[in-house]
Amino acid sequence: MKTAFLYTDAYLDYDYGPNHPLRIIRLKLTYDLIKAYGLLNLPSVQFIPTIKAGEETLMAFHSEEYLNILRKANGGLLLRDAYLYGLGPGDNPIFPGLYDWSLWVTGATLQAVDFVAEGKGEIAFNIAGGLHHAMRSRASGFCYINDPVIGIKRLLSRGKRVAYIDIDAHHGDGVQKAFYETNQVLTISLHETGHTLFPGTGFVDEIGEGEGEGYSVNLPFPPFTGDEIYLWAFEEVVPELIHAFQPEVVVTQLGVDTFYDDPLTNLHLSIWGYERVLKRIKDLAPKWVALGGGGYNISNVARAWTLAWGVMNGIELNEALPESYLKETIEMGIEEKELRGRTKIPMLSQNKENRIEMERVVHTIKETVLPKILNKKKSLL
Ligand SMILES: [Zn+2]
Repeated sequence: MKTAFLYTDAYLDYDYGPNHPLRIIRLKLTYDLIKAYGLLNLPSVQFIPTIKAGEETLMAFHSEEYLNILRKANGGLLLRDAYLYGLGPGDNPIFPGLYDWSLWVTGATLQAVDFVAEGKGEIAFNIAGGLHHAMRSRASGFCYINDPVIGIKRLLSRGKRVAYIDIDAHHGDGVQKAFYETNQVLTISLHETGHTLFPGTGFVDEIGEGEGEGYSVNLPFPPFTGDEIYLWAFEEVVPELIHAFQPEVVVTQLGVDTFYDDPLTNLHLSIWGYERVLKRIKDLAPKWVALGGGGYNISNVARAWTLAWGVMNGIELNEALPESYLKETIEMGIEEKELRGRTKIPMLSQNKENRIEMERVVHTIKETVLPKILNKKKSLL
């Protein structure tokens, strides 16, 4: 199995601002930890330095009008009417180079896609990608350019059949919307319910429209859902959907903001649960384009994505974090010394109401979505 890892230190030239929860340094920390474990020196691994996307590639999804605004915003100065496009103080700040930042991120996603589509290997991981909230003409939820959509569109243009699985705590609304009316892409999003978390969508009755009916799947989890219920729900629906749809490539958004100690969300997953989900995705995906995503506890991000890269390469990692990484993180006030840690998750996470709610969600998906995909499959045979 051949794999590719995408990264460049150029990411560090950009900054959402001192009070913004998305800290780009988490990417360097992840890269440093992966390197410290020796995971870029394996014979099966290709390290690919990121190259910026060509500007024309963005037009696969975004409007010309919106891209013009982003180009102007690249100077870092607030523009009149920027708010009409979701830009301005708050979630989607105008910072110097924001358009260039988006080109780097999207470039890495396209490189990951090409690596897999051209048969150079089976798995590619762009930790900077997964900016799943960006809309056609609007920035949203820290995302300016929707790299998952642009990556999936390139896979489609190369004739690949694609399923998208999004395990970020937030609903993958931008990706769902892009493919809501087509049966060419199956999108599955597992997230904290829109009743308690941004962007307020991703309910079980959002199943796609027209040709796309049955090809958008949502598993909204109540706050404080932990590993056990999450994994149960995943297992009940995701494998069957993937087997029915039979994708050639699975694109995933691997947000790490589902953890019990993430500062922005209310799910109660542990790194152990996250690892089990990744192992299942690896079993299910014939080829895998893995993208990053949310994660606002930067120590969690570095450790979880390193663990993910270990899973992708079939490597068991030592629990003790490498010395060079510890030295770097201690200076940042990070105290974890183990990859997974021993932290016990509060028992709160296994509550009965959440189980009942997820049994309802799983039942609804089995009644409404699965038959549509299975019938379509039958009629094709
Ligand atoms: Zn998120």
